[in-house]
Amino acid sequence: MAIRSLLWMFLAGAFCFLNGETSVQLQPPDWARLDAFQGTLSKSTFEQTLHQVYCPRVSWYQDWIKLNESAVLIRKKRGEDSWYSLSFSEGNQTISKNPDVLFADKKNNLNGVRIALDPGHIGGQYSEMEGRHFALNGSLPVKEGDLALSVAVRLKQKLSGLGAAVKLIREKNEPVTVLRPHDFAGEAEIWVRQRELLLKKKFNPEERAKLMRKRKEILFYRISEIHARAKLVNEDIRPDLVICLHLNAAPWSDPEKFELVERNDFHVLVNGCYMGGELSDDNQRFEMVFRLVNRWNKTEQHIAESVSHAFTRKTNLPIFNYKGPNALKVGNVPGVWARNLLANRIYHCPVVFLEPYVANSHDAYERIMLGNYKGKKKINGKWKESLVEEYADSVFLGIKKSLLPVRR
Ligand SMILES: [Zn+2]
Repeated sequence: MAIRSLLWMFLAGAFCFLNGETSVQLQPPDWARLDAFQGTLSKSTFEQTLHQVYCPRVSWYQDWIKLNESAVLIRKKRGEDSWYSLSFSEGNQTISKNPDVLFADKKNNLNGVRIALDPGHIGGQYSEMEGRHFALNGSLPVKEGDLALSVAVRLKQKLSGLGAAVKLIREKNEPVTVLRPHDFAGEAEIWVRQRELLLKKKFNPEERAKLMRKRKEILFYRISEIHARAKLVNEDIRPDLVICLHLNAAPWSDPEKFELVERNDFHVLVNGCYMGGELSDDNQRFEMVFRLVNRWNKTEQHIAESVSHAFTRKTNLPIFNYKGPNALKVGNVPGVWARNLLANRIYHCPVVFLEPYVANSHDAYERIMLGNYKGKKKINGKWKESLVEEYADSVFLGIKKSLLPVRR
């Protein structure tokens, strides 16, 4: 068959996401990290932020988080009756430990702002393993990780030009983690055995080998890789802001016959919308509360909204809207949604996560195949920059407008 694809294959808009999985051995959360936030948030700020950004349903959090008049109690360990108590501030005052929005330099530059750019996935020789790869009719393959890195390189040049200190979390289409799939044999074995116990059946040797391989790969390219990036962000780079760069893809209309789709759109994500099962995980519960008390949601929403406006103005792409419970609309600007993803949860600073373009749409695919050219080319009667340039410039304009004071 001439058409080959491994891609981006499942649910609309959901394929890039990494929530829920935290199976690389993690330390239990250090609840004392919340001590610095005692008495800083009013009850109304905590409650509103919880409902409007982090957890819209009481039924999802009521077993884990209890709001009293003077404090919020957060269950420290699943299955145990021990609670962390975070006092609310007095007199309905909220004292921010961080600036509400990244400081705007009065001289119209981004001097002093530290931005880390996170090109999604690994790309290169790993793109097929990651399921972020497709090739049609013998053409060059489309690799999400490679495209994301090209956008990051261009965006770094633009932001650096305004004085920002910009770092790429990866500079090559190579993993950040030093581990590889074979390092996870023991963990994958335990996981497969647990599945057998749960399903009350033994896998045949072929099924077992396939499950083992898949599990080792996921632990490598997803879990271990993102935790390695988080270590770099939280311990070395320590940025004011992380921008995660991805491209979306849509399910093939016929999984047997890969035909490009019509849908081409964009959306921008902030962290939030923790569901019940996610909050039952001690680490995810801690991370949610840690992000809430740091009030990173305000910076994330401010920048995400500006970037969403910039994409609309520059690309004319329509907006992608979620329909399921795993995403929550935040604010009034179209295209900005909250989701709980590993990469926007465990980087300890504001994170804006981008999902523009549907890579397997007619429009985007045609532009991707033209490569990263300079200037403009006529496409379907309209002069257009390369997709990489247009993507980088949209993010740049959105960040610039959100961080710099308006010129008068
Ligand atoms: Zn992605």
